[in-house]
Amino acid sequence: MCSAAMGGEHSHVVDVRSRSMMCTCRPCYLLFTNADAALAYRSVPDRYLRCDAVAISPGQWDDLAIPVGIAFFFTHSSRQQVVAFYPGPAGATESELPLKAWEDIVEANPVLLAAEQDVEAILLRRRGDDITCYLVPIDACYELVGRLRQQWRGFDGGQQAKRELEAFFESVEARAQPA
Ligand SMILES: [Zn+2]
Repeated sequence: MCSAAMGGEHSHVVDVRSRSMMCTCRPCYLLFTNADAALAYRSVPDRYLRCDAVAISPGQWDDLAIPVGIAFFFTHSSRQQVVAFYPGPAGATESELPLKAWEDIVEANPVLLAAEQDVEAILLRRRGDDITCYLVPIDACYELVGRLRQQWRGFDGGQQAKRELEAFFESVEARAQPA
């Protein structure tokens, strides 16, 4: 964002209109942390929550019409709606979200409303009938998308993509606090 040199670990801000993300130094990051102000950029928070109490049935998952076992959801402020994306060989793909299905899930699990619009996401992972839920910074979702895209081979991503996926969720698990 400014001309300061940055190390490997740094923060991000989201341009709320274009949805692009920018790397920031700490002083720039702190300019955009006020969630109540009408700002063109929003700093991406660094909290990770594991939402163990969230109950989503396999049937509810199917109603979300997500074609793969991973998806993230966030409130897109300039569109005034919740949007859903999933990772794939072409990067993040937006899924046409059946809003009623999502609203039913949120009504039963109000902790999902805790995600800050534009900058935090609800990350869901389905394995068999087991669906786990995290609240994560939006940049973590794009990190996952980027890691999978780089390693994706063939129809289902291949072994290397699966290893990236496991490594990503291990790091999320290690950082996550109980919601
Ligand atoms: Zn800066």
